[in-house]
Amino acid sequence: MRAGPGPTVPGGPADRPLRIGVLAVQGDFAAHARLLEGLGAEPVEVRLPRDLVGLDGLILPGGESTTMRRLIDLYGLREPIVALATDGAPVYGTCAGMILLANRIADGEEPVLRLLDITVQRNAYGRQLDSFEADIAVPALGEAPMHGVFIRAPVVSEVGPDVEVLARDPDGRPIAVRQGRVLATAFHPELTPDRRLHRLLLEMIAP
Ligand code: GLN
Repeated sequence: MRAGPGPTVPGGPADRPLRIGVLAVQGDFAAHARLLEGLGAEPVEVRLPRDLVGLDGLILPGGESTTMRRLIDLYGLREPIVALATDGAPVYGTCAGMILLANRIADGEEPVLRLLDITVQRNAYGRQLDSFEADIAVPALGEAPMHGVFIRAPVVSEVGPDVEVLARDPDGRPIAVRQGRVLATAFHPELTPDRRLHRLLLEMIAP
């Protein structure tokens, strides 16, 4: 389901859509893939290192970060994902994806990809707020708030000096951050019709 001509690779053949990998070992990768297709990009499900070859960008979806971490290592994906990002491909992590990107995880858990200078705290909203929805102001994306869907979501408890905070939760804690070409949100825009964050990812590749 392509929605007309989408963004293409700068300097590449005009008809080659952006190829965006979606880590597909566990979690809600299918929702991201559908959304990317709707934006005219070509989603590529990533399960093995060879799936990462030639990608223009990568999405790390929500899910269970403990399981995802295990499968990333089982399939040998850790190094090639880090290499793709350090070669300059933009990466966007939602929820568990944000945890995978973080340089530090509160409570001493080993970090996974170390591509984002933040500390995350897993399951930060406690039992009663296991899942909730809230309108979130994201000034960098325009005036209209984003509808944030939070599912056993993490928060960011520390940000490094090069990290830009794009949004905060009602208590003022960062829940959307960007450091260069790495983007992360604690919430799940792929479960809403709002495409602004996915567009931002595509614009990092083809402005
Ligand atoms: N609580 C999950 C974790 O710690 C993240 C939840 C999500 O991705 N929706 O991995």
